[in-house]
Amino acid sequence: PSVGPANIGVVGLAVMGSNLARNLASRIGNTVAIHNRSRGKTDALMSEHPEAGFVPSYDYEEFAASLQKPRTAIIMVKAGAATDSVIDALVDVFEPGDIIVDGGNALFTDTIRREKAVRETGINFVGMGVSGGEEGALLGPSLMPGGSDESWDTLGPILRSIAAIAEGEPCVTHVGHDGAGHFVKMVHNGIEYADMQLIAEAYDLIRRGTGRTPAQIAEVFAEWNEGELESYLIEITAEVLRQVDADTGKALVDVILDQAGAKGTGAWTVQTALNLGVPVSGIAEAVFARSLSSHPEQRAVSGDLPGPAESLSVADPDAFIEDVRLALYASKIVAYSQGFDEIRAGAAEYDWAIDLGAISKIWRGGCIIRAQFLNRIADAYAQTPDLPVLLTAPYFVDALTRSQDAWRRIIATAAGAGIPAPAFSSSLSYYDGLRAKRLPAALIQGQRDFFGAHTYKRIDKPGTFHTLWSGDR
Ligand code: NAP
Repeated sequence: PSVGPANIGVVGLAVMGSNLARNLASRIGNTVAIHNRSRGKTDALMSEHPEAGFVPSYDYEEFAASLQKPRTAIIMVKAGAATDSVIDALVDVFEPGDIIVDGGNALFTDTIRREKAVRETGINFVGMGVSGGEEGALLGPSLMPGGSDESWDTLGPILRSIAAIAEGEPCVTHVGHDGAGHFVKMVHNGIEYADMQLIAEAYDLIRRGTGRTPAQIAEVFAEWNEGELESYLIEITAEVLRQVDADTGKALVDVILDQAGAKGTGAWTVQTALNLGVPVSGIAEAVFARSLSSHPEQRAVSGDLPGPAESLSVADPDAFIEDVRLALYASKIVAYSQGFDEIRAGAAEYDWAIDLGAISKIWRGGCIIRAQFLNRIADAYAQTPDLPVLLTAPYFVDALTRSQDAWRRIIATAAGAGIPAPAFSSSLSYYDGLRAKRLPAALIQGQRDFFGAHTYKRIDKPGTFHTLWSGDR
């Protein structure tokens, strides 16, 4: 068996794979083998980056032969069938003890299936979430590897060397076995959907409430980025709002078609939450808000539906903007609390030992939802590792105590003025649902027993009960 010069390989050299390969090659001690299905991308990377010392190969035998043993290869191809075909090809040329890493955006149940199948050959399979887009891949992503402890022993040092650094710590941790890494990456994307929707609702309310221009609102976001909301998404929101369209001289945001796209990871987060019975209502509203925006035929026939007579006119714009800020912060706490609830439930369902505090830390750098705020989540789990609801941690209780009145005012104002604020509103409903001493779920149990003899439990004595309702004939 051959022993090649490279200690790590990358298969799939589109934007993510080629940037990850360059990132790997830039770290001392690494020699990177590269392969792509079609030859052009390999040749282009070779000629554009001679300094990287890549070892190119044009078929899988050659690729395997260019790697030291145990061989380690990261796949960065289009998620789905392409990933399966590359795994099959690598399994044919790799040997027991070698490691195949899938860094694509795989659905975690696919990763569980693949890990099981590859493990039977004696080869290790690691599903790894990679966040941060193309820039992250090149300069330092947030990495969420799953897979076996044995593969982490080999992969850990390599991944730590290429990951983003946040407050001195690399943004990578061994998330848990088999599909755990891709599961956590999925929820990361779900939280990203919620964060983006909440920011969009805040912008819309400020714009319609105060009449400020996008450039003026950019200043508001830039200011918010100096405080407790400091985050990558708030920062880029200011940049997007500042951008002027070269063709028309208008704010670019006003010439962009208002239909939001999606690639599916938000929907996966919600579908999985439904299966697990976890109420990620804020994330779900964010996914649905994109769906609503993307039905022009429905919007075209709905524009004349009745709304409130008065449009919104705010007496004290500065106070209103501060209320929006607090509503955004409170809703954001709910979105993260719901996302971590889903990770907690997924870990219990799939038997993963996931350290929730460690997850919040690896999201502090490299990824799209990177934020100051994640330190507070890490603190909360450091204090109480088995915290059942993140937003009940003392820091968040303080923040919600400060913001809840403003949050309620903003949602009342939005409803009164006919401005949609689905993620703001559903987050508050979730919060009030959690707080409620008694929920109308008791009535639902009564209805279920009435029509389906589903039985109910009582608050005053043990056992299961069925009532002979007058409807029972
Ligand atoms: P992509 O457009 O998703 O995929 C293109 C790559 O897949 C090309 O190298 C292509 O090879 C290869 N490929 C497609 N079908 C194949 C097959 N049947 N067999 C072998 N190779 C095949 O590329 P990307 O945007 O760089 O993303 C790569 C992965 O990273 C994806 O899973 C994506 O979801 C994930 N990801 C992307 C981002 C992002 O910001 N873009 C962030 C995180 C994760 P050819 O050149 O021969 O066509």
